[in-house]
Amino acid sequence: MTQTAAEDDARRRDAEDPGHRELFHVPPAEGGDYPQTAYLAGNSLGLQPRAVRGELLEELDAWARFGVEGHLEAERPWLPYHELLREPAARLVGGLPGETVVMNSLTVNLHLLMVSFYRPAGARTLIVVEDTAFPSDSYAVRSQAAFHGLDPDETVVRTTDPLAAIRAHGDRIALVLLGGVNYLTGELLDIPAITAAGQAAGAVVGWDLAHAAGNVPLRLHEWNVDFAAWCSYKYLNSGPGALAGAFVHERHTGAALPRFEGWWSTEPATRFEMAPVSRPPRTADAWQVSNPPILAMSPVRTSLALFDAVGMPALRARSERLTGYLEGLLDPIGVEVVTPRDPARRGCQLSLRVPDAGGLSKALRHRHGVITDSREPDIVRLAPVPLYSTYHDCWRAAAAIAHEVGS
Ligand SMILES: *Cc1c(COP(=O)(O)O)cnc(C)c1O
Repeated sequence: MTQTAAEDDARRRDAEDPGHRELFHVPPAEGGDYPQTAYLAGNSLGLQPRAVRGELLEELDAWARFGVEGHLEAERPWLPYHELLREPAARLVGGLPGETVVMNSLTVNLHLLMVSFYRPAGARTLIVVEDTAFPSDSYAVRSQAAFHGLDPDETVVRTTDPLAAIRAHGDRIALVLLGGVNYLTGELLDIPAITAAGQAAGAVVGWDLAHAAGNVPLRLHEWNVDFAAWCSYKYLNSGPGALAGAFVHERHTGAALPRFEGWWSTEPATRFEMAPVSRPPRTADAWQVSNPPILAMSPVRTSLALFDAVGMPALRARSERLTGYLEGLLDPIGVEVVTPRDPARRGCQLSLRVPDAGGLSKALRHRHGVITDSREPDIVRLAPVPLYSTYHDCWRAAAAIAHEVGS
């Protein structure tokens, strides 16, 4: 196909299979032939939904109008505000409402959950993580090991094959903590199989869903996942540093587990009794500590409503079409794609191995208006996000990559 025919083909696909780009602010391009960027970095920071600003202003107005009385009298009262997010978050990850809570940021939630779920005892002390664990997760598990007086180098097992590591270390494993979709390679792990294998070995199995939430369908309750956490600024488009989510399986929500508590860990009905001892609810809300930041919750609420409106099944279907299309354009260029080829084993991210990842990502941005990101030393990540990316974005990215590195 000539370049023009290929571009026409991309535009035809967009007409037949449109996403929801009109609901988002797409950054303007600094370079290249088009006014908007081809934004393929939604795996790093999702775009701003247009509805965020107006709904955030409503919360600011409520604060201006009601002051402290807004806790009860605002149109969306602040006291129970986090409850507005519970059901949409639960639908997104396939949890029961009582298993899900939006709070804090991701690594903070991992720590709060590990306080309850990483309980080394006797010979069972090991934590299994993936070889390419995100640095924050690696620091978190190592510091948890040290917190328990263990040597992190001997406690944290990094593996490229979680099932093999579970077989090899079996009854010495206290916790398996893995990324559902790997941040670097984009690989989607078999969450139910690994969860079942870890639990059969007697371990607790938790998942970091930073790159999975809003990207792939999840059924955390059905898969019997012990706990999970995710952030909301990647595929969930809730803004830089947005509030994170946490899931605790209902098998554990009423159990007597060690936990770090604060006044938001107690039953709402008892919160203002100012009693010295908490009465935690039998839900994931018990893991909350502080009163939540309403202005930060507002964009999460707006964004989750979009996921409810469009639905993960439709998003996943478009995701597979869009990612497959991009893959088909990249193959003839001859760049190495390190993400699995099987659509069932990946989300919407394709990771390329290239000699100068940082240089390529910069060139794509400044010469072509194509936004990607790079991870040292040799990976460039491209994420056609089914909510707002287009076939034309994919075509632009592939044409730009061909121009920069192509044969
Ligand atoms: C994005 C990401 C983080 C970031 O952690 P924060 O606490 O939100 O700063 C952590 N872990 C993984 C796997 C990630 O992809």
